[in-house]
Amino acid sequence: MKKKLALACIECGSRNYTKEVGTKIRTERLEIKKYCRYCKTHTLHRETK
Ligand SMILES: [Zn+2]
Repeated sequence: MKKKLALACIECGSRNYTKEVGTKIRTERLEIKKYCRYCKTHTLHRETK
């Protein structure tokens, strides 16, 4: 069973990426540094529901 998460830029709130995770794995909130095309730079992206 997999669950889709959106990764949103913490700077502008854009949901730029999605990620599939297993429902068993419930760690802390993911925070991944990724490129945001709205901010035009790498920003921290956080999981949203
Ligand atoms: Zn952004």
